[in-house]
Amino acid sequence: MTHLLLFIALAAGPVAAVAGPLAPAALAEAHALREQALADDTALDLVRSLTTEVGPRPAGSPADARAVAWAITRLKSLGFVNVRAEPVTVPRWVRGEARAEIVAPWPQPLVVASLGGSIGTAPAGLEAEIVPVTNLAELARQPPERIAGRIVFFTGRMERTRDGAGYGRAVAVRSHGATEAAKLGAVAMVMRSSGTSATRTPHTGAMSVANGPPPIPALALANPDADMLERQLASGLPVRIRLSSTAAWDGEAQSANVIGEIPGRELRDEIVLLGAHLDSWDLGTGAHDDAAGVGIVTAAARLVGGLRQHPRRTIRVVLFANEEFGLSGAKAYAASYASTLDRHVVGLESDSGAFQPYGLAARVGPDRLPLVRAMQALLEPLGIAYLGAEASGGADLGPLRELGMPVIDLRSDVTPYFDLHHTADDTFDKVDPALLRRHVAAFAVIAWLAAEAEGGFGRLPVTAAAPAVSR
Ligand SMILES: [Zn+2]
Repeated sequence: MTHLLLFIALAAGPVAAVAGPLAPAALAEAHALREQALADDTALDLVRSLTTEVGPRPAGSPADARAVAWAITRLKSLGFVNVRAEPVTVPRWVRGEARAEIVAPWPQPLVVASLGGSIGTAPAGLEAEIVPVTNLAELARQPPERIAGRIVFFTGRMERTRDGAGYGRAVAVRSHGATEAAKLGAVAMVMRSSGTSATRTPHTGAMSVANGPPPIPALALANPDADMLERQLASGLPVRIRLSSTAAWDGEAQSANVIGEIPGRELRDEIVLLGAHLDSWDLGTGAHDDAAGVGIVTAAARLVGGLRQHPRRTIRVVLFANEEFGLSGAKAYAASYASTLDRHVVGLESDSGAFQPYGLAARVGPDRLPLVRAMQALLEPLGIAYLGAEASGGADLGPLRELGMPVIDLRSDVTPYFDLHHTADDTFDKVDPALLRRHVAAFAVIAWLAAEAEGGFGRLPVTAAAPAVSR
């Protein structure tokens, strides 16, 4: 009932007086902030700068260190305070060169990319017959003698979906395929990319290395190259391929979570956290993944910081280290802030590309949902609907959500995102300035209202112990 009344009041106009957690003046300010964000190109400038002046920035690389320095400089020059780099130890993996070719029945080259964390081949490379399987379940049904000494080829195709569910289903093969194939005696694993690109751009991405790297090389095929293997297999003749890769692990390196704040005017200890990740994969320049997120959260917080009066709570921007290859920064942040986590009132992350945002979902205390509906009402003109109470918070906020921090998701259409994700095509030209501004507007409205609202967002059930500090 309360929800309905609030909804009706807001539907009448964004600045309608509403009794409840948000003062009319705060709603009016949010409306103005939204309009200001839709005319502001700070995020675009940041994406251009990070992709151009730093470029690909895999964890632990020299460019990753330059990204940390870049972020500190940018946050300071945009007026953030308490700007700091909190050290995070990251594993370092070096891609090297990978080659693949069909040897028989009809020889020709293939376009491949090593999966993140893969070991390389011996210098001479390796050659073997491929065995196609659709997915992990089909692999598990194979007799070991069919797999031993051969290369497993995972053929499953990622489904294109607006909400990313297709990626969620496809990525299990990338995470666990090599480990499972090795258990049956395979000498290598190749897979159709976890991605939807129809061009010859393979999609890289991390494998699960919780128990150390899988003991066999693992490579992603561009989708047309996976098609080629399937056509040759359809002949019924044995298909042999040759692989070589110089991928290797290279110890650990120091990186950092870069943090900057818009200090609160009343509840300075209470934090509204806006997150994105500073690292990227190395094939493209990480424009959507996640320079866009860095630009969005930074620009949104800066707009709020530029208002006549600061928000009641502190808005903290956290640019996480090494999301792509093991969530090192997310785990380090959760470990070092575990004792003050109850003062993180809500978190919001931008890491799913800067395409059309279409919805807001929030995992907050049930009695706080009217507040979320009030935020969404202001974002309705941008095409952002209310999507309910199931929200994940994203990868970097996962450890904080598991410790009880409420989270809000801004969902955006990932249909085009997974054509670029983790490929050489994730570049600045693919970023649409108008859509990027729409994300900034949404983040600015949500951050401002979350920082102004009377009362917090409740707490979530704790589902995990705080991670140990990874240093
Ligand atoms: Zn990302």
